[in-house]
Amino acid sequence: MPYLPRPETTQACAHCGQLFAARHLRRKYCCNSCNVLASYARTGRRAAGPSKADLEAVVQALLALTPPAPASPDLAPVAAQATRVAAIKGRLQDEAEADGQRATLAAQEQAVRLHALKAKRPGPGPAERPQ
Ligand SMILES: [Zn+2]
Repeated sequence: MPYLPRPETTQACAHCGQLFAARHLRRKYCCNSCNVLASYARTGRRAAGPSKADLEAVVQALLALTPPAPASPDLAPVAAQATRVAAIKGRLQDEAEADGQRATLAAQEQAVRLHALKAKRPGPGPAERPQ
């Protein structure tokens, strides 16, 4: 006679009450943790950790949390540093431009002075001038 597995029956867990599919007549609990927790409850021994219901409540609370904003607060100091660096870079560029303009002005003033000297005294050149 061939082996015929017992058809599934829906039972309620004796510990948590959740419905589960049982293929065995004597199965009482939906999972091993309910079996162990029911044993703890019968014998008065305390469970080592939080109960399954507590863990499920924690998981549901975590799933209900909204995702964090895209700009993480951890990146705020980095953004502030980048802003300071950009400000310093802009100031250095401004100073370099000002230095260039000052150098150009000085060269123009010197050229005007030399031109005025040459116009006043057309004689010996700069090489023959006494040091
Ligand atoms: Zn159960």
